[in-house]
Amino acid sequence: MRELTRRDMLATAAVAGGVLTSASVAMAQTGDQALQPSRAPGIGGNDPAPHNAIRERQNPDMLNPPATDSGTTPNLRFSFADAHMRQTNGGWTRQVTQRELGISKTIAGVQMRLNAGSVRELHWHKQAEWAYMLYGSARITAIDAQGRNFVDDVGVADLWYFPGGIPHSIQGLGPDGCEFLLVFDDGDFDEDDTFLLSDWFKHTPPEVLGKNFGVPASLVAHTPDPSELYIFKAPVPAALGKDKLLGAAPVPQTFSHRMMAQEPLRMKGGTVRITDSSVFPASKNIAAALVEVEPGGLRELHWHPNTDEWQYYISGQARMGVFAASGQARTFDYQAGDVGYVPFAMGHYVENTGTTTLRFLEMFKSSYFADVSLNQWLALTPPELLNVHLKLDQQVTNALNKNKIPIRPA
Ligand code: MN
Ligand code: MN
Repeated sequence: MRELTRRDMLATAAVAGGVLTSASVAMAQTGDQALQPSRAPGIGGNDPAPHNAIRERQNPDMLNPPATDSGTTPNLRFSFADAHMRQTNGGWTRQVTQRELGISKTIAGVQMRLNAGSVRELHWHKQAEWAYMLYGSARITAIDAQGRNFVDDVGVADLWYFPGGIPHSIQGLGPDGCEFLLVFDDGDFDEDDTFLLSDWFKHTPPEVLGKNFGVPASLVAHTPDPSELYIFKAPVPAALGKDKLLGAAPVPQTFSHRMMAQEPLRMKGGTVRITDSSVFPASKNIAAALVEVEPGGLRELHWHPNTDEWQYYISGQARMGVFAASGQARTFDYQAGDVGYVPFAMGHYVENTGTTTLRFLEMFKSSYFADVSLNQWLALTPPELLNVHLKLDQQVTNALNKNKIPIRPA
């Protein structure tokens, strides 16, 4: 810490000398400790007052926006690291909703950790729930309105989807439970406001419960308080047998999906897996793409013609530039555990700015995935018409691709 402070002071002294030296600009560009709000010599200045240097280093495109950024595009980034953590004896959870990221009206996200054996209590909610397993494995259960049942074990990169109103549970398996991302088709969702099994028991007269189950009221008068359940400790369950659906018909469309079993679109610079209701029929109101971009690669300039995009960054580092029409554009930086958002129809790109593979999810409140490629659009526009617009060099028009290539290499 002392060393960092000394380097900060040296950089500050260099700038205080009157001239922002090229050395300090270079340090800024390489993400050195002395990152200063000066994207080029003679532009901006240093920041001599106390400031949050750690945060600024995580958001270099906020501190030194590209010269092409302009206007008042709203905030399109929120980190789970900045969200309240709710902890219980079985694990933890935190959420990024419209209350945290004001613009995210269509989708809300929740991270949850269940220790081995721990259970997310049997419950339901109005919103549809889509999930991606980030770590470990879990057993999930549900039934539908026709009394058909569903039980499955899911591991890393597996998905599940429970339609709104369908009751379900999640339990962490051995050896170390699980961590997963939940995505809901409503930005106003609140994980602390779901219909809990124990809560309903607590708020129904025991005589009514007794009559409902055909047992004496005294047998159902002392169930645990909801504060003791929600996410609670329990033994790791036995292995899932072949008899998992014994005595019940299975749901006609499975609520789970192995995303990594899908053959991805492969191209120089990365891969894309698209999972919407065409390959995961139960997932009627959430479409997703898992995107992997190699260092320096680019998720190409594009937009979505159907709805907003909600993103979750799984690993690596990225920056996203968003074009909001009317001369407005803004650039944001992301890393693991961050949420990004693109309002409906806004043009954008995502660039891998790190040294490892960038992996992120694109999520849509829709039954289908759709994007429009800038490159493909221009390739499929009559050349003369295109030429009177941008007066592009022949080399550019020759390079256009009539086939969509979602990722471009470094
Ligand atoms: Mn749920
Ligand atoms: Mn997109």
